[in-house]
Amino acid sequence: MVKETTYYDVLGVKPSCSNEELKKAYRKLALKYHPDKNPNEGEKFKQISQAYEVLSNPEKRRIYDQGGEQAIKEGGMGGNGFSSPMDIFDMFFGQAFGGGGRGGPRGRRERRGKDVIHQLSVSLEELYKGAVRKLALQKNVICDKCEGRGGKKGAVEQCPTCRGTGMQVQIQQLGPGMIQQIQSMCTECRGQGERISPKDRCKTCQGKKTVRDRKILEVHVDKGMVDGQKITFGGEGDQEPGLEPGDIIIVLDEKENEVYKRSNNDLIMRMNIELVEALCGFQRVIKTLDDRDLVITAIPGEVTKHGDVKCIMNEGMPQYKNPFEKGRLIVQFLVNFPSSLPPELIPQLENCLPPRPETMIPDGAEECLLVDLDPEQEARRREYKNAYDEDEAGHGPSRVQCATH
Ligand SMILES: [Zn+2]
Ligand SMILES: [Zn+2]
Repeated sequence: MVKETTYYDVLGVKPSCSNEELKKAYRKLALKYHPDKNPNEGEKFKQISQAYEVLSNPEKRRIYDQGGEQAIKEGGMGGNGFSSPMDIFDMFFGQAFGGGGRGGPRGRRERRGKDVIHQLSVSLEELYKGAVRKLALQKNVICDKCEGRGGKKGAVEQCPTCRGTGMQVQIQQLGPGMIQQIQSMCTECRGQGERISPKDRCKTCQGKKTVRDRKILEVHVDKGMVDGQKITFGGEGDQEPGLEPGDIIIVLDEKENEVYKRSNNDLIMRMNIELVEALCGFQRVIKTLDDRDLVITAIPGEVTKHGDVKCIMNEGMPQYKNPFEKGRLIVQFLVNFPSSLPPELIPQLENCLPPRPETMIPDGAEECLLVDLDPEQEARRREYKNAYDEDEAGHGPSRVQCATH
């Protein structure tokens, strides 16, 4: 049991989730709430990052599970707490995404615009067969009309609103004798300190130097690609005068499949079979992700037990860049037992099955009634009992209860 589930809830996962599930949840949400895509959700972006920072670290996750957020704040994190959400994001996606001066170890990023990351939802079939997906994106391109100058040549002047500083200072009266100064980016020149007077502005881009343009990207999803894999379109990011454009990076997001679960290159499926098939053999047809039919056979006399796991070699997912090699198709069998049997058939059935063991009943044994167990009710009972035990410790071993007649 974990003390609180807030961090798990923020990421939309269960407290029992694996590291993989955690990564996937973070990836989805971080891309959705990144300030570039969702400028008004900064707080949410921060929460996601903090939750991921704690839960992705086994030691911190353990501390959180035991003591909740309080325990993390009190010592688990050390220093002044959490890393910046952007750092977590950059680390996760493995590149400088913040643009500008942030940059990674490579200096060449200095004069580059920032990369743009998009998520592309793909089905398991597409990852199996390969696919070409067309993606329509909006991006900034240098205005053709003014060649990125924003207006006529020589029309640039100092911004009259901020007098070239790029900042605006607002003074607010909070109460008698109390004023507050708020500094913000100049809206007139967007912090540039210079502008083009309205009459000289380029009509096409309204002096912004760039225009929004629709761009269709052809994304080649290759056979065997995996969830989270990145496909990079170099230099396709937003254009800005004087900067080398960044990249567009497509991150694949594998959709869940109704039949198959993927585990690396293996595919795992569950198959329900009837008791008669489990005992007497069966033939079944499996539809592959590329729509072929595979026939599997359990010969009569071969008993398939509930939970048995078998596999078909080379019918799993194709290997990336080596698609003729495939993983395994793993089948887990679940046996449907009949809920009751006609009593008159029991002797016949018994004759066919291995003999039952004999039970010795000691003298004075107590007769008990077996009832169905309701797991929910059981959980409530246990919770109640725990609370009781904590209050009045030292009550000997708990007695096993049985309903007698
Ligand atoms: Zn223009
Ligand atoms: Zn200005």
